[in-house]
Amino acid sequence: MAKLVRAISDMGGVVLSVIDSTDIVKRMEEIHQTSAVVSAALGRMLTASQLMASTLKHVDDSITLRIKADGPIGLITVGCDGRGNCKGFVENNIVEVPLKAPGKLDVGAAVGKNGYLYVVKDIGLKEPYIGSIPLESGEIAEDITAYYAYSEQIPTVCALGVLVNPDLSIKRAGGYLLQLLPGATEEEITMLENNIQNVPSITAFFEQDKTVYDVIETVLDGFNPNMLDEGEVSYHCDCNRDRVEKALISIGIKDLEMLRDEEEQIEMGCQYCDAKYYFSKEDLDKMIKSLKKA
Ligand SMILES: [Zn+2]
Repeated sequence: MAKLVRAISDMGGVVLSVIDSTDIVKRMEEIHQTSAVVSAALGRMLTASQLMASTLKHVDDSITLRIKADGPIGLITVGCDGRGNCKGFVENNIVEVPLKAPGKLDVGAAVGKNGYLYVVKDIGLKEPYIGSIPLESGEIAEDITAYYAYSEQIPTVCALGVLVNPDLSIKRAGGYLLQLLPGATEEEITMLENNIQNVPSITAFFEQDKTVYDVIETVLDGFNPNMLDEGEVSYHCDCNRDRVEKALISIGIKDLEMLRDEEEQIEMGCQYCDAKYYFSKEDLDKMIKSLKKA
């Protein structure tokens, strides 16, 4: 299971969320059979969604992140709820772009630089909160940092990383989100800047047998951090037959009749997970009758 921990500095000016998201990105790769650079892009997005969801107040709150840009991946969508269930998908799961440097996947080139990051927060109000910013780099961590700076006015440092093995399996994934609350002092900021240098890459840090707790100790060194919460989080899709049936019904009587007459069986796959749902001619008949009655 992936692990997420949150800590706050003793003086209360700094909050840090850290995640080892290796198992989440592994599950994602299993479902979507992504190429290396897509694993990195979607893996970073899923990792970011968990870190951002860790700042939500209630378990029923949720956050959705979308990037729509001009890169070959196309639309990227991820979601995460306050319980730590995340899921996601991309328009094109197989994309190849030249490496940025030996061993360095070029996520920015795959995502694209001209486009937007959209953040939708559903916190139980009548309307969800929607924020958007033009992409900084398409490397995702910088875009999340920019989102917090411009849309929420919260000084933030975001780090995200996904290491992909040559056989395309996922070696490591993780990230952290460091946020300054009102009251953080100049000295604290300087100290944090120095501490961050000691974790130049989160995945390389984990590769040295370090844990999420070591990240907290290193980044919040000198801040006497107190744990806010810690728990296991995962890739989990909450789709079910009812919801898929509703989506199918929404295409309308005409198209349902056409499907019923032309197909022996309808297969509906969930975009987020590998679940498949099957509907027979009789099932379609029932849906058509229920629509005609309504
Ligand atoms: Zn699903």
